Amino acid sequence: MTIAQEKNSTIGLVELPQLKLSDPDGNDYYSLRKYEPIISKQVLISHLQAGGFQTKFINLRDGDYEENYGRITWRGIELTKNYVGIDIKTVDPASCAVWCITINFTLYREIAVILLKHLASKGRPVVVGGSDPIADPEFYLRNGAAVVVQDKSGAANWPLFNYLLGKGSKEELTGVTLADRTQYRKSKKPLHPEEWPLPSLDVAKQCLGNQYWMDPFPEHLLPIGSIFPDMGCDRHCDFCQTPTYGTGYRRMSPQRVLEWLDIQRQAGAKSVVSVSDQFLGRVIFPGGREEVLEIMNGLREM
Ligand code: SF4
Repeated sequence: MTIAQEKNSTIGLVELPQLKLSDPDGNDYYSLRKYEPIISKQVLISHLQAGGFQTKFINLRDGDYEENYGRITWRGIELTKNYVGIDIKTVDPASCAVWCITINFTLYREIAVILLKHLASKGRPVVVGGSDPIADPEFYLRNGAAVVVQDKSGAANWPLFNYLLGKGSKEELTGVTLADRTQYRKSKKPLHPEEWPLPSLDVAKQCLGNQYWMDPFPEHLLPIGSIFPDMGCDRHCDFCQTPTYGTGYRRMSPQRVLEWLDIQRQAGAKSVVSVSDQFLGRVIFPGGREEVLEIMNGLREM
């Protein structure tokens, strides 16, 4: 792993191209959603900018390039695996000091590894985060990741990027595993969603979408903004990864939710998707029902 040089301290945050899974007649067997609003980068970029880091957002969904990277047979049907968006090879791996990829779904692993290997090809460290690397860090370390972030809340970010940019020490690391398999356990309290810095208008605009899942979205509700108003869950269903994040259930106050939504509105959003871990989970806590009503009433008046 190369610690970044002084002259370039930009952190490149890359949104993965989309997966397209097609049968021989071109029928879509996944759900191609190139233009959905982007939430994880919205939270991450805002947090890094608030920490004084220079960021560059590259949205690899935003194009029509298509490349085949494999095939799979499912129920006797041969499906082709393509990635769609922008050609990964057009990203200059030397253009940022550090790279950062988020992978929340296992079926994106192969695309993530193509991108990871390309970004790492000039020696710049590639940080991976999201649900899939948290579940299986070894897979990503084996494929060239310099760091796997294992703190879902964002508390790992500032010490990690300070270290990678040569401005902080290893001793401050928390909630990460490095390529040499040294694990820095979470030593900080998870960040509370209330502490996530609000996005700038510019960041919110870059993260607007025009699609949500496959169904047609009413024209007058476009573009679509996004919010992540709570994180984690206090239940323990044995098939679910969410409790393993170790964050417990943490929710934004109604006031913070409405501040975030107002930024989406100012950025031009005509609707918003809440990609909450458990929005209605708040009703099991005292005052939670009133919070939901306050949020929904505030949103209606906006
Ligand atoms: S997020 Fe849902 S499935 Fe997961 S532990 Fe909580 S209640 Fe269960």
